[in-house]
Amino acid sequence: MSQFSFETAPKIICEQDGANRLGEIAKGLGISRLFLVTDVGLIKAKLLDGALASLAAAGVAATVFSDVLADPPELSVQAAVEAARAAGADGVVGFGGGSSMDTAKLVALLARTAQALPDIYGIGLARGPRLPLIQVPTTAGTGSEVTPISILTTPNHEKKGVVSPLLYPDVALLDSRLTLGLPPTVTAMTGIDAMVHAIESFTTRLKKNPLSDALAIKALQLLYANLPAAVNDGTDATVRENMLLGSLFAGMAFANAPVGAVHALAYPLGGHYGLPHGLTNSLVFVAVLKFNLAAAEGLYAELGRAILPDQRGAADREAAAAFVAAISARVAAMPYAQRLRDAGVKQDDLPVLARDAMNVQRLLVNNPRDVAYEDALAIYQAAF
Ligand SMILES: [Zn+2]
Repeated sequence: MSQFSFETAPKIICEQDGANRLGEIAKGLGISRLFLVTDVGLIKAKLLDGALASLAAAGVAATVFSDVLADPPELSVQAAVEAARAAGADGVVGFGGGSSMDTAKLVALLARTAQALPDIYGIGLARGPRLPLIQVPTTAGTGSEVTPISILTTPNHEKKGVVSPLLYPDVALLDSRLTLGLPPTVTAMTGIDAMVHAIESFTTRLKKNPLSDALAIKALQLLYANLPAAVNDGTDATVRENMLLGSLFAGMAFANAPVGAVHALAYPLGGHYGLPHGLTNSLVFVAVLKFNLAAAEGLYAELGRAILPDQRGAADREAAAAFVAAISARVAAMPYAQRLRDAGVKQDDLPVLARDAMNVQRLLVNNPRDVAYEDALAIYQAAF
């Protein structure tokens, strides 16, 4: 018998050009003074134009905050919270990638209920209420539009997370047209991140459940099949929508059945070197899959049978090996650095990274195989 609970955003809208209805959707939530969190690149690419026009048409006043930084530092989130208070915001939109959406979550919370960030790092420590919140992802992706997690960078270069059901948005709005112009490297890094979410959720040790499993499998099928086409020709709207859905399903899965060692070992790389989240995951991904293989053979075999038609009747050992080989090939085909050394990581830093990874017990407890300091160091060395 299964015993589990499952949460997600109460409303998910998937609609081409749906961003052009943002005004109507915001008004439906009772918002009249909206605070929109985004980054300068999206404004320059004119991706906000339709959304802003619809807000004006609906009579919703909008303040655009475009100072979001990648892997948001605490200070930049605090600045956004102050700006939202100064604007008298009664609702928040996150419009962008994971950094904009993670910032928007905390703005919606802290502009309404003041709390010091260091006091709410961890699971379930934040208090509500928060302002109404809409998330509009422009990458596929972090899945942040359906996760209760916001990851920040602390002043001493650690990545810390606020985890609270308060951070689920009221509405997640998926408009694949917003992702048509993403450059191949961003498509590749964010797409691999989403695949990691699906796989780590499916193999998670403590909260694995039938709903997250179904979502993780569907996510991986969509992402595995569509990632090469999305990287090679980003203009196909169907491929882009499949990627956005894959990212969404993976996000719904890992929000309830959390990620493991790939993310735990990726965070120190982001904290120390400022590398993008998707790249840091990709750099340790294959080494972690190989490390986990002995403990996760049956689960990897299930995933292999789900994405590789020629493995449907295969025994566990064979299907699991084929799975690891297939994922490794996908990663190797991505147009960015493949080795830690090529991404600027110093070999002398590996022990520090391994020590920092040991601090991410929040995620390591989910990994299908125990990870000790020596294991983390060996994985970094294998990925170097
Ligand atoms: Zn991730």
